[in-house]
Amino acid sequence: MKVSAKPLKKVKLSNSGALSLYFVGCGSAFAKTLNQNNVLIVKGTDHLLVDCGTKCSQALFEAGLHISQVKNYLITHSHADHIGGLEEVQLFGRYVLQQKPRMIITPAYEKVLWEQSLRGGSELSESRPLGFGDLWERLRPGKLKGYPRETFEANLGSINIKMPRTMHFPDSTNSWRDCAWSCAVILDDRVMFTSDTRFDPELVLSYDERFDFDIIFHDCQLFTGGVHASLDELSTLPAAVKRKTILMHYGDNWQDFRDQARAAGFKAWAKEGHSYTF
Ligand SMILES: [Zn+2]
Ligand SMILES: [Zn+2]
Repeated sequence: MKVSAKPLKKVKLSNSGALSLYFVGCGSAFAKTLNQNNVLIVKGTDHLLVDCGTKCSQALFEAGLHISQVKNYLITHSHADHIGGLEEVQLFGRYVLQQKPRMIITPAYEKVLWEQSLRGGSELSESRPLGFGDLWERLRPGKLKGYPRETFEANLGSINIKMPRTMHFPDSTNSWRDCAWSCAVILDDRVMFTSDTRFDPELVLSYDERFDFDIIFHDCQLFTGGVHASLDELSTLPAAVKRKTILMHYGDNWQDFRDQARAAGFKAWAKEGHSYTF
């Protein structure tokens, strides 16, 4: 894995063919000094934006990319730091570009995303009510068999994407089965991006046993409780897993925890504005 030496001044949607992750942000939902934990995946001429929060469009613009250039989306769950930018994308697509953006989405999550979030700002834009399919082209992932938990798969050009369900919210449940829709993202069977999740060692350990990931990007909250995995909880993972785990989705005061994370044996903190190439 190669990490860019400096934050990228101009983000591009193609590269020479290596799998690359660009962190638009690495902050928690309430961070003020960090952008939101959204990631742009690029491989050759293929690209995919994983999550599009309220600040995503502006953050990409400041890195030289207009959101309208992003054609492919995958949404991990319905918190605003992951979906707050989608209304701009869908309305810009319909009324300016006159071209639908594409979303990798299951029928079950499409219903949740449309009915509970996106519908309000877009349904009554024209003389007839609009639906999700008027605004988005769908790429349907298939359900995989024989996985430790519900997992979907899609191929976007050369990028293989697997989406295991996760245990994010509410905080009262003990299984992904009882949670609102949320998923992690596995890229080319090499990189795991948990997106937001509570501490759920079975997720990380069972998929790492199967794929032996190069790197795991993991949600990291700086206190224990609520709907995220905390640094203290993550510190109980096996040393071999921590050595390849990069922490993300952290709060503004993350620098106060650098020594603790180093002592616990984590690989690094994700760097906002940087790219990770595999
Ligand atoms: Zn979040
Ligand atoms: Zn969340």
